[in-house]
Amino acid sequence: MNPHILILGAPGAGKGTQSDNIVEEFGVEHVTTGDALRANKGMDISHLGLEYDTPGEYMDRGELVPDEVVDEIVETALDEADGYVLDGYPRNLAQAETLASMTDLDVALYLDVDEDVLVERLTGRRVCEECGATYHVEFSPPEEEGVCDRCGGDLYQREDDTEETARERIRVYEENTAPVVEFYDERGDLVRIDGEGSPDEVWADVKDAIESNA
Ligand code: ADP
Ligand code: ADP
Ligand code: ZN
Repeated sequence: MNPHILILGAPGAGKGTQSDNIVEEFGVEHVTTGDALRANKGMDISHLGLEYDTPGEYMDRGELVPDEVVDEIVETALDEADGYVLDGYPRNLAQAETLASMTDLDVALYLDVDEDVLVERLTGRRVCEECGATYHVEFSPPEEEGVCDRCGGDLYQREDDTEETARERIRVYEENTAPVVEFYDERGDLVRIDGEGSPDEVWADVKDAIESNA
């Protein structure tokens, strides 16, 4: 059976970057609520009677999309995956409880990065609109500005990667998601990783942690 891996960390900690490595090395599926929601930003959720009628209205403000929308996305994706790295979920304790009722994890990795570094990473992030590959204008630039090395697609900046929204997302993370890290720590599933080294240095630690736990 392929491993069941959870990757936790604040916005900009490097979850997407390391998940790409995990997919390549371990042959698992990358299940990411952020990408799934971005592909469905305009989805009509008005029948749920929530504050806003689409996921995008929450996302552009840096707020969490309501659990009932996100839980269903995750349940469907995990059902279809043979081994996974789950990225962007759970983001609060209720989601952590829901996840525990859906699946068993082999390991929960926590990428630890300081707030000032997070803001620098988020505001410089660029993403390929074709294949989703992630770059950074300073820390991992593409060979040609604005063009994806992997597929030649155009790179864009996410609407929520402005300094203001980045800081709000980090605040929402501290308030809602930091307790999730404790949740896995108490269960003995958590491996803390220093996320401030180079992408290759962080990857060496991530790979070790998976090999010794899964
Ligand atoms: P980052 O890569 O910066 O951590 P994501 O791409 O994971 O950000 O998430 C972008 C936005 O999508 C979040 O700010 C939030 O609005 C929404 N979102 C993603 N995952 C969840 C989740 N598990 N619960 C609620 N909202 C979510
Ligand atoms: P997350 O999915 O946790 O929000 P990403 O993997 O998208 O984080 O990384 C956020 C930004 O930081 C991207 O621009 C990425 O290229 C860059 N980045 C990722 N890991 C590192 C690292 N170890 N050192 C420097 N920059 C990094
Ligand atoms: Zn690309």
